[in-house]
Amino acid sequence: MDRKQLISVVLPVYNEEKNVSLVAEQLLGIAKQISNRYDMEIIFVDDGSRDNSFEELIRLCEQNSMLKALSFSRNFGHQIALTAGFDYAKGDAIICMDSDLQHPPELIPIMLKKWEEGNNIVYTIRKDNSNISFVKRYCDIFFYWLINKVSNTPINRNAADYRLISRIALDEFNKLRERDRFLRGMINWVGFKNTAIEYEVGKRIHGKSSYSMWKLVKFAANAVTSFSGAPLRTSFVAGSAIAGFAFIYGVYLVIQNLFFGAKFIPGWPSLIISVLFLGGVQLISVGILGEYIYRIFNEVKKRPLYIIDKTINVNKQ
Ligand code: UDP
Ligand code: MG
Repeated sequence: MDRKQLISVVLPVYNEEKNVSLVAEQLLGIAKQISNRYDMEIIFVDDGSRDNSFEELIRLCEQNSMLKALSFSRNFGHQIALTAGFDYAKGDAIICMDSDLQHPPELIPIMLKKWEEGNNIVYTIRKDNSNISFVKRYCDIFFYWLINKVSNTPINRNAADYRLISRIALDEFNKLRERDRFLRGMINWVGFKNTAIEYEVGKRIHGKSSYSMWKLVKFAANAVTSFSGAPLRTSFVAGSAIAGFAFIYGVYLVIQNLFFGAKFIPGWPSLIISVLFLGGVQLISVGILGEYIYRIFNEVKKRPLYIIDKTINVNKQ
């Protein structure tokens, strides 16, 4: 018989002392349920928690060798914690989920089924429900509308950081080492066959969300700037508009004066036109610089140029 496939579950933990044992217990339950076909390793990444999360994790890991834990020297943030977990995961498929029980572990067998059917990424989409506050929901809608307007990689609204990634997709993902990380976008960028499943978000059982409004704004800004050059291009657009307007307005003033005898305060037309025109030209120059900076920015990310999914009759030496 084939060896059993290994499933790695990666969970970032930040101040979740009361939740880790609950989520571990539920995951071990799932591990048992699927144990005839799969082995499981459960990797907690303690992202510099200030409560007793890590002590709690040590206690849990001593009881069961399926449970593993890493701890950061300080808080590096959710996205980096996930990345560390991915680096350490050995599984044939990797599932990441929150450790606050908002992501129902019952979905895991369904994800595995989709994976066995040949999907490299199985992401989850949360159904809108009342467990998410009104403000957060509308901010979310706005944010995803904006990012999809400006980004070249489509990003699903409501896609949670609860997903399965196959080993081949994860190996490619692990090559992306950029510092500002927006995982949802980066995983979409990697590509591969994917599918979605829907679920209802649970309520946080203990503790509170560490994504404050401010953290969410930073998260959104990060997502926009790492996935698009649109902010850098704004000054080019504004500059062209202003310079264009100045030019047309200048022509208009000349015509008014020459053909219709309009009188202006002496010096005003030349002054206003040159101010506007030069302002526009300056903004255009900033925009051109922006274009180059955008290119530098793309280069320094050092992302692979392409990712191969399958090959037929070719061998790479
Ligand atoms: N988290 C983390 N580092 C942080 C903030 C959060 O590792 O700086 C973890 C947290 O423990 C949880 C997950 O990321 O497992 C999602 O965080 P949270 O529940 O606060 O976000 P929300 O579900 O409200 O979006
Ligand atoms: Mg949560």
